[in-house]
Amino acid sequence: MQSFKELGLSAPIMQALEDLGFENPTPIQQKAIPTIMDDKRDIVALAQTGTGKTAAFSLPVISLTDPSSSNIQSLILCPTRELCIQITRDVESFTKYMKGFKVTAVYGGASISNQISELKRGTQMVVGTPGRILDLISRKALKIQHIQWLVLDEADEMLNMGFQEDLDSILSETPETKQTLLFSATMPPEIARIAKRYMHEPVTIEMSERNSGSKTISHEYYSVPAKYRYEVLKRIADVNPDIYGIVFCRTRRETKEIADKLMADGYSADALYGDLSQAQRDYVMGKFRNRKIQMLVATDVAARGIDVNDITHVINYDLPDELEVYIHRSGRTGRAGKSGISISILHSRENRKLRDLERMVGQKFEQKPVPEGRDVCEIQLWKLVEKIESIKINENEISGFMPAIEERFANMSREDMLKRFISMEFNSFLNYYKNAPDLNNLESGRGDRSERSGRGDRGDRSDRGDRESGGRGRARGNNEDYTRFFINVGSYGNMNAARMMGVINEQVGHKNTPVGRIDIMEKFAFFEVEKKFEQEILNAFKDAQIDGKRVAVEVAQPDNKGGGGSRERRSGGGGFSGGGSRERRSSGGNDGGNRSGRSNNREDAPVSSGRRTFKRR
Ligand code: AMP
Repeated sequence: MQSFKELGLSAPIMQALEDLGFENPTPIQQKAIPTIMDDKRDIVALAQTGTGKTAAFSLPVISLTDPSSSNIQSLILCPTRELCIQITRDVESFTKYMKGFKVTAVYGGASISNQISELKRGTQMVVGTPGRILDLISRKALKIQHIQWLVLDEADEMLNMGFQEDLDSILSETPETKQTLLFSATMPPEIARIAKRYMHEPVTIEMSERNSGSKTISHEYYSVPAKYRYEVLKRIADVNPDIYGIVFCRTRRETKEIADKLMADGYSADALYGDLSQAQRDYVMGKFRNRKIQMLVATDVAARGIDVNDITHVINYDLPDELEVYIHRSGRTGRAGKSGISISILHSRENRKLRDLERMVGQKFEQKPVPEGRDVCEIQLWKLVEKIESIKINENEISGFMPAIEERFANMSREDMLKRFISMEFNSFLNYYKNAPDLNNLESGRGDRSERSGRGDRGDRSDRGDRESGGRGRARGNNEDYTRFFINVGSYGNMNAARMMGVINEQVGHKNTPVGRIDIMEKFAFFEVEKKFEQEILNAFKDAQIDGKRVAVEVAQPDNKGGGGSRERRSGGGGFSGGGSRERRSSGGNDGGNRSGRSNNREDAPVSSGRRTFKRR
């Protein structure tokens, strides 16, 4: 194995790596660093987060950067603000001994004028999210015509978040001569298209099989009727007293519910989901990072960009709709060569999905028996013994009390005393599990069904009303909870549903906005957002630009006079390039209200509806 020094990294970088405790390059670093430094060829690297990919692309680029020039030499694109900050921090730590090296992070949701000032002061490396980068380019605050390196990090996530067209626009601004480094955990066809269109005979570096998970992760599952899922979750936590894990749920409602239940049942847990403010998110994440909580219950969207090492378990409380999301979830554990366990709590109807997952991951999932009460008690007993063994005794404080304590226990045998000490903590487990049922081999019978129908079978579907972005189609059956917005850009302005998601995420500065229906017309579009986010959207779009042009977003209001709720107008009316402020809602009927009289008026028909237009597989 080559050392970092043998890979040709400069002395100041070597010193920084030593401070960080990086002894040897990870496999992706071994392959990518020489290719970037010596071959100068473009790279498509299939690597998950946790493999050391940030250092794999940034160390050689930093090493080759000329710190005496204040021109931008490299651009790193990534999907989220969190990842953007993380990469920037990593680069800062790698360059702490490099005089004159400057890296600048630019992302939505933060003051653009501060970012412009920072860019003006000169920087060699820019790390940013696609929307903000485009915005800065259109304001002429960012010039990328002379970059030598372009990195697309988590390229599949960027596409998944609707940044495809933004990426196309950014890529077309970059010089032919640059070296492009594309990193992606999975390889959907859209990535192959980008590679084909914008890259020159790229070298493919494949650390694991295509679309597959890391080999340091073992995949396990428990099969129980749905109504016992929470009970199984608790038993998993109980047989893993040192668990440091993320529990993934599909909906915000469920995320909160499960976290609340765990906390009420005395577990060390908290929830992370889209409704939280940035400050609340930071607070929960801070607690998790500092190990003040052992289990973070999260939605996929909220957990994006979370970069925490040493996660022991990822628990799929529900399986995600899109199987590739499983790869991203499980990739939160087994990082940097460490081993990790990805657990799925399944019900019998999900067996087919399980087979698909096994195929995709390229590993067999091991079915585990649900721990029984006595398993839990035994493990907890030994945990307690371990705790007693390792407890630090404060001699000074306790010695004064010892004669009296010894006298008090003079007639108690050693065995009796031990039993009492152990029982003091252990009784609660014994009592809880005394009559606990065996959860193995339960038929998915009536009990299961009645619970599901209690929630409204199609049950999962009613849950889906609470889904975070990531699902398709309408977010809620009842759109009274949603505000419908008008935006004066439509398909003529290259808008589509996926891009609209990206634009909304970018403008509000996070990707947790619950977006409902999106209807794209030719010259304008409508999108729905949960009512409580109405003001946030209006603020976020105040001075918004798309492709360098100002855009206007207003609340669309039902035109009562129009009848049948099938028409609506913008609240402000007039003045936009959309021409005409009344549009028929795409969801309304194709009735005679169509002013043009054409039965197939494209301006009335949605070009696309639903939140995402492309599937990852
Ligand atoms: P990444 O895949 O870039 O998110 O990196 C995952 C984690 O591995 C980060 O915390 C890095 O600091 C750490 N890491 C990256 N490269 C190495 C290395 N060569 N040795 C030890 N840790 C590393």
